[in-house]
Amino acid sequence: MARGQSAAYGIDADWNRLYIGGEWRGSASRETIDVEDPSTRETVATVPAGTVDDVDAAYDAAAAAQEEWGQTPPARRQEVVQELLRLLNEHDEEIIGLLTHEAGGTRGMGETSLHLASDQAAEAVTLPRRLKGEHVVSNIPGKENIVQRVPQGIVTVISPWNFPLNLSMRAVAPAIAAGNAVVLKPATNTPIVGGLLFARLFEEAGLPGGVLNVITGRGSDIGDRVASHPESDVIAFTGSTEVGRRVAAAAGENLAVAAMELGGNNAHIVTADADVDAAIDAAVFGSFVHQGQVCISINRHLVHEDIYDEYVQKLTDRAEGLPVGSAHDEVVVGPIIDESQRDEMLSYVEETVDAGATLETGGETVELEGVNDSLVVAPTVLSDVTNEMAVACNEHFGPIAPVIPFSNVDEAVELANATEYGLSGSVQAGDIGMGKRIADRIETGMIHVNDQPINDEAHVPFSGTGASGVGGYNSEDFLDEITEKKWISLQHEPRKFPF
Ligand code: NAP
Repeated sequence: MARGQSAAYGIDADWNRLYIGGEWRGSASRETIDVEDPSTRETVATVPAGTVDDVDAAYDAAAAAQEEWGQTPPARRQEVVQELLRLLNEHDEEIIGLLTHEAGGTRGMGETSLHLASDQAAEAVTLPRRLKGEHVVSNIPGKENIVQRVPQGIVTVISPWNFPLNLSMRAVAPAIAAGNAVVLKPATNTPIVGGLLFARLFEEAGLPGGVLNVITGRGSDIGDRVASHPESDVIAFTGSTEVGRRVAAAAGENLAVAAMELGGNNAHIVTADADVDAAIDAAVFGSFVHQGQVCISINRHLVHEDIYDEYVQKLTDRAEGLPVGSAHDEVVVGPIIDESQRDEMLSYVEETVDAGATLETGGETVELEGVNDSLVVAPTVLSDVTNEMAVACNEHFGPIAPVIPFSNVDEAVELANATEYGLSGSVQAGDIGMGKRIADRIETGMIHVNDQPINDEAHVPFSGTGASGVGGYNSEDFLDEITEKKWISLQHEPRKFPF
């Protein structure tokens, strides 16, 4: 076992407990959920199937703990988050192992997730000392206006399975640092690395009981109660647009703040004068990293007709050369998270070919020795695609690269914007000024010139527009959501009233 690693954080540790009020306890139902390794299809852990009663207990514990935590000196809150960051890095190998076992993450995905989570935690460390208020002059003689920034209270975090570590971290760490209590519900596919791991890390970091509560369980059983709980002041949700609409409606009913990061249909636009090899390097990463299961990955390649054939050929060659297989081996493309995701993306490919597109490579499952019903999908390139075809108009969330031709910049912009989503995107242009002008016209929350769409830095705003979400993560944006302003005025001399 490497430096600082202990069995308590590995996949073989006992994870069959919920974490409520600083105690590890079984679910009220005593029912459990098996966690499957997507590479081997074997059950690697068992976690509790939380119930509505467990959810209520978690919010009771959070409510009991929040006030004291909110009043804890900033230096102490900072120490706890700093210690979390240290533990995260001390247990790096076990955590990367959890990502491989639960999320099917390759070594590269695990290292990237850990880096992003560390970046998020490091940013959160600074928050306790950044909760600044202001003095505002008054029109009323003798009045002093003080505007304080205070924690919202209880922040609910619901996270997805694709990048569970950093997507839970980006909400949990700042919420706690700012003095809130948290109820965290991770995705059912990744209940440990997106949920119970946080309980163990924060417990070891010295966080008082009740400030963080983790409930594992199926969204279909407990999701509505979590999303609509009356104690919740903020819902920080990352997941699909379909579920997000429902969660946002529940938050609205409850008058809770909704920070929603949802699906995407991101375009990689390549102009006629682009450096094709650079565009391909970016495209291969942007389409195939973590098997394309990234909300900000390339969903569509929009390529100028002058370089279209060259682009398709080079992308196909690169896709065919990528090492593919079990995430436990040295591969670039590992397994899809589960059958339903795999089957959906393969049906999009089939529909797209039936509609007239050309399958250049891939489009099928890759068998793995000793694995029954493999979840690995071969890197797939499709040409002669139109924006209306299934693989282009849906978020396919797979290692699939549909390539759509365009004849001029106006057409490229129109194609890119012809989606309800507005998350990320990229432009590859020989003239970077032209790249910026195209970026200005793309209706997304984020877009990257001479790069690909997958970028995330904890100090830079991260948000989508349209059906990709409301509110924002990272930097000051999320701080504004997890805190509120409170106006206290002091009347220093007798005030004159009109009657
Ligand atoms: P999902 O099906 O929407 O699930 C997300 C979370 O919501 C899971 O924890 C899920 O629990 C829970 N949930 C399900 N039903 C619920 C309900 N009725 N009430 C409350 N919570 C409920 O999404 P996913 O398949 O895990 O993740 C993939 C999606 O997330 C893609 O669309 C991707 O684009 C999006 N995403 C967006 C971002 C971003 O920053 N914009 C980042 C990553 C992913 P269960 O797992 O138990 O069902």
